[in-house]
Amino acid sequence: MDVFRGSCLCQKVIYEFEGPIIRLNFCHCVMCQKAHGAAFAPYMRVLKDNFRVVAGREFIASFASSEGISRTFCRNCGSNLQWIRESSEAMGIAAGTLDTDVDIDPSAQYWCDEAKTWHQPRRDVPQYGAE
Ligand SMILES: [Zn+2]
Ligand SMILES: [Zn+2]
Repeated sequence: MDVFRGSCLCQKVIYEFEGPIIRLNFCHCVMCQKAHGAAFAPYMRVLKDNFRVVAGREFIASFASSEGISRTFCRNCGSNLQWIRESSEAMGIAAGTLDTDVDIDPSAQYWCDEAKTWHQPRRDVPQYGAE
């Protein structure tokens, strides 16, 4: 079983999860742009049951950005960590926080109509509107 590890910027929060990684998605929605301070948010989708916090659980804060959706982040350094839809068995892990190098191609790009003009979605990856 593959185990992947990740952490926040200040290293207070350390997490790990077992594979498989279901897919890598890029989200170009305005909320992800704001939350990540970036043109888009890359998320590794994994099963919630396969995820666990190794250290720093007390530093994980949560923001309900939409009905039934919460985004977690480190309250000490602000790193985005998870995108969680209550009703789903899977969740998104902010891919940039992974410390394990993963050889994976993105499967889909969402909310492409909200993409920044200065950073357009990749042409070689399927593009969609709302997720
Ligand atoms: Zn941190
Ligand atoms: Zn988004």
